[in-house]
Amino acid sequence: MDRVLPDIAAWYEAGTFPREVFRELGELGLLGMHLEGYGCAGASAVEYGLACLELEAGDSGFRSAVSVQGSLSMFPIRTYGSEAQRTEWLPRMATGEAIGCFGLTEPDAGSDPGSMRTTARRDGDDWILDGTKMWITNGSIADVAVVWARTDDGIRGFLVPRGTPGFTARDMAHKLSLRASVTSELILERCRLPADAVLPGVRGLKGPLSCLTEARYGIVWGALGAARACLEAAIAYATTREQFGRPIGGFQLTQRKLVDMVVELEKGLLLALHLGRRKDDGRLTPDQVSLAKLNNVREALAIAREARTILGANGITLEYPVLRHANNLESVLTYEGTSEVHTLVVGKALTGLDAFGG
Ligand SMILES: Cc1cc2nc3c(=O)[nH]c(=O)nc-3n(C[C@H](O)[C@H](O)[C@H](O)COP(=O)(O)OP(=O)(O)OC[C@H]3O[C@@H](n4cnc5c(N)ncnc54)[C@H](O)[C@@H]3O)c2cc1C
Repeated sequence: MDRVLPDIAAWYEAGTFPREVFRELGELGLLGMHLEGYGCAGASAVEYGLACLELEAGDSGFRSAVSVQGSLSMFPIRTYGSEAQRTEWLPRMATGEAIGCFGLTEPDAGSDPGSMRTTARRDGDDWILDGTKMWITNGSIADVAVVWARTDDGIRGFLVPRGTPGFTARDMAHKLSLRASVTSELILERCRLPADAVLPGVRGLKGPLSCLTEARYGIVWGALGAARACLEAAIAYATTREQFGRPIGGFQLTQRKLVDMVVELEKGLLLALHLGRRKDDGRLTPDQVSLAKLNNVREALAIAREARTILGANGITLEYPVLRHANNLESVLTYEGTSEVHTLVVGKALTGLDAFGG
């Protein structure tokens, strides 16, 4: 909070994410903090969740950076990588010296990653990658990209270091959400990688999907951090802003808003804590994570929007955090599985019927 809050409005307005922050996040032990060994903190799932909550109370961009580093980049290397890949990347990623990104989404493959067009084909012992990845957090600042590509043997993950010939990243501009976060396009044109660039431990969509379950778990907590910040801003404003001769927090309509906000915040926190304890016990299922991601992001966004109404015109400025959080949460609602996709996941779990296309 001390580090993020004084500067976040300026970073958001400028559309930048300071790269050096990764080192500071590493010093705090927040990068890959729920992983064991290789310089990672080995924290519990609940501890990791609480860290996500506090980071996102600052800005969703900071929680996103930590999620992508720990859950989407370090997790697949830790879980599916060779010993050489782990020792090469994880210790440096845990300190923030090296940054990772996760390339799954493509221009024509978002909710349906199974339709990806990026390919990896063999050329002797080497691999040749071709394709485009889009909306990739940390893409242009990453030292290594975890890229998912179609092979003769199903979808496989590849570690693509920055500077590899045929691999370029360029930033996506004009975002109105998650502005304090780098979002990039990755372009792979006859990008040649050595045989040992592939993650040996996983084949098929379950590779990237398992990473997404990890990251979604962090969002379950993180979104509530943004919601808490909005509620706090709304209470502070409502108790000091006067209209009709008294604080607007003294009006029953305003109190109803604040009470509804705190009720949903506390329910979401209990859900996150329950899931965290299940994760620590090894009993958390992907369906449960979908349910909680759906609920907690939806409610966090509703809280942020309601908080904005309490702040009136002041609520639309960067002087207060509420619309910044609400705008950020629009991205959080969409990435790591849209709310519609998570609805279909839970619907399938309830009925046994698959309502996805195809
Ligand atoms: C700021 C930001 C950062 C991101 N970072 C990353 C990253 O680091 N790595 C990465 O790989 N991706 C990243 N993404 C991409 C994100 O995961 C995708 O945007 C998301 O999966 C949705 O894909 P899409 O945008 O192509 O939407 P689409 O899949 O085209 O969906 C459009 C709409 O159709 C709905 N829809 C789709 N299918 C169905 C269906 N079967 N039934 C009902 N409705 C349906 C969706 O829910 C949505 O409302 C990021 C996105 C954003 C905005």
